[in-house]
Amino acid sequence: MSTLEIKNLHVSIEDKEILKGVNLTLKTGEIHAIMGPNGTGKSTLSAAIMGNPNYEVTQGEILLDGENVLEMEVDERARKGLFLAMQYPSEIPGVTNAEFMRAAINAKRPEEDKLNVMQFLKKLDQKMALLNMPEEMAERYLNEGFSGGEKKRNEILQLMMLEPSFAILDEIDSGLDIDALKVVAKGVNEMRGDNFGSLIITHYQRLLNYITPDVVHIMMDGRVVLTGDADLAKRLEAEGYAGISEELGIEY
Ligand code: ADP
Ligand code: MG
Ligand code: MG
Repeated sequence: MSTLEIKNLHVSIEDKEILKGVNLTLKTGEIHAIMGPNGTGKSTLSAAIMGNPNYEVTQGEILLDGENVLEMEVDERARKGLFLAMQYPSEIPGVTNAEFMRAAINAKRPEEDKLNVMQFLKKLDQKMALLNMPEEMAERYLNEGFSGGEKKRNEILQLMMLEPSFAILDEIDSGLDIDALKVVAKGVNEMRGDNFGSLIITHYQRLLNYITPDVVHIMMDGRVVLTGDADLAKRLEAEGYAGISEELGIEY
């Protein structure tokens, strides 16, 4: 079992404090959702976990099995089992999607465990079929000319190929039609298991109709203000953020 711990995390952008002490513990085997109004710091949290240099951690810790993530380079975070959808450059000219994924998978594996071309292609075929992706998408240059929906689907393909311990998925549902949303959910649900944990960041409850989270956190004004089970997301759907903000006396 692995654990990702976020302790009293404070993050600033251009000297403005955005995260004001986030606490959260995610274990493999669990899927957590983070919900919250726009501008509340959800993407800032994911950027800090990913190591985006524009986000300054001023206080607190991020620990992966007790190791200090904040001291790791971005690629080291990936090798240690964190999957951060945004870590990948949006387009890499001259590198096909398949080549990129094989390189990324093998970078994580020890010499005796590297996938040869045949093993890789077999796995790729399986996962692409599950995600209803046309075969030619593997041979296209990474993200070049991918539509919004194709990019998201491709992120889930990368997730399934890389098999990280933890995946942080920031608004993987935004801009998706219902069929694409179901495909994304199918991929994440397929990953569910003792060796996988995920933090699903979303503004809307809709995605959680297809991926039932074990834990739901509500973020407002740079903090996790409420934690509950899947029913909390349903309550949010009914009451909106206003109900919770009023009850807790928090402005957002
Ligand atoms: P969310 O993902 O919850 O919508 P964000 O983490 O994107 O929220 O943003 C939190 C706050 O930080 C917002 O007030 C936003 O305007 C501000 N912010 C985000 N990115 C930047 C940036 N690059 N420069 C300045 N302010 C930013
Ligand atoms: Mg936003
Ligand atoms: Mg965001």
